[in-house]
Amino acid sequence: MATQVIFPPSLGRSNVKRLLLCFVLWLVLGAEWVSAQPTNTAPLAQYEPHVSARAIAYQRIVSAESLTAAAWSLLGLWLFWKLGCSLRLRNRVQRNRISESASQPNPPPLRQLLPFGFGLLLTLALWNLPFHVLGLLIEKHFGFSNQSLGGFIRDQLLNFGVSLVMLPLFWGGYWLYSRSPHRWWLWGWLGLIPLLCFQMLLYPLFIAPLYHHFTPLPESPLKQKITRLAEQAGITHSTILQEDTSRRTRHVNAYVTGIGGSARIVLNDTAIQTLPEDQLLAVMGHEMGHYVEKHVWAGLISSVFGAGIFLWLASWLFPKLAKRHAKRVSGVHDLAYLPLVLLMLSLFLLLQAPLASYESRVMERRADAFGLRLTGLNDATARLHVGFAERDYSDPDPPLLLHLWFGTHPTLRERIAFALSYRR
Ligand SMILES: [Zn+2]
Repeated sequence: MATQVIFPPSLGRSNVKRLLLCFVLWLVLGAEWVSAQPTNTAPLAQYEPHVSARAIAYQRIVSAESLTAAAWSLLGLWLFWKLGCSLRLRNRVQRNRISESASQPNPPPLRQLLPFGFGLLLTLALWNLPFHVLGLLIEKHFGFSNQSLGGFIRDQLLNFGVSLVMLPLFWGGYWLYSRSPHRWWLWGWLGLIPLLCFQMLLYPLFIAPLYHHFTPLPESPLKQKITRLAEQAGITHSTILQEDTSRRTRHVNAYVTGIGGSARIVLNDTAIQTLPEDQLLAVMGHEMGHYVEKHVWAGLISSVFGAGIFLWLASWLFPKLAKRHAKRVSGVHDLAYLPLVLLMLSLFLLLQAPLASYESRVMERRADAFGLRLTGLNDATARLHVGFAERDYSDPDPPLLLHLWFGTHPTLRERIAFALSYRR
């Protein structure tokens, strides 16, 4: 049973139940609070999204696929540990059944960690591949995906290549643990802060271009209007780029990414090809809200706090769990323990998702307000959100629990009502 593996014996079955009860109570109270928020549902009739049967089918299939894929990924990590794959791989890279380090918390040498980490990440990538294929088939079936098989394979290889960046981080964790078995989490956290900043700074410059081609917006009346809007918003040296999203999908989107010198607003070419001008300006007004209010920084600060909480919890939980499995691993520093570490990280990310989603919804609502204040395009903004429901098949009324857990934006119905009721 999964819970027996996840929680150490010292936590006790009754305490686990109490924790779960608190968590459910928190969700229910959160749901109550959200549903109690006043929403203006006044003149919605002409802005009522027409949700077709095909759209409903898409929403249900995508929700089921996403949830099953998340569970499948967790199951993969657990099976890798439970079926002894982790032990066999460790023995193979050590070429010796008895660890050289026995109970000494030495960091595993790179010649062992690199092949072990490579093998683990490759197995997980192959394990999760069927759901990536299924996701592509669903998008193709509903006419959203433009991706060729070659492009899909290239993306999967890229994803795997990028995931290898984790290997030096694993080694750093082992090294810190060997030097400071009690305070490793604190040093690790302090070390992660600049790394997370670097990741945010470098991602748009070096990683995103591996997937997409970015170009400056071509000279046009639209660009002039966007530039004027940026000046109105107090953005003087903005980087506004166009992304070649249409090579992969027909879905419409725009986003803000990067910090400092790499901060940029990205408009997908699908948005330029699909949306009328007033809706494009409404999109840009919203994105400029993210840019001016520095929401990327807010997200970064939350990630730093989240990482600190996880590492602190891990410093308490990892040794207890390793002790419980003392017959299989020699301690937290044992390579074979790594899948359990990743499983706990995945569970932590899943459990903190309602909080992260809530923070995201608050920032999205602020960006909506900023955009409406800047552009005054209430009608175009409302129609933009109607379009997301009718054209992109986004659910205007997602199930409450799914929305609370994974909803990064207010629901489309809330956003339409907000756009119509907002006054400058
Ligand atoms: Zn946004």
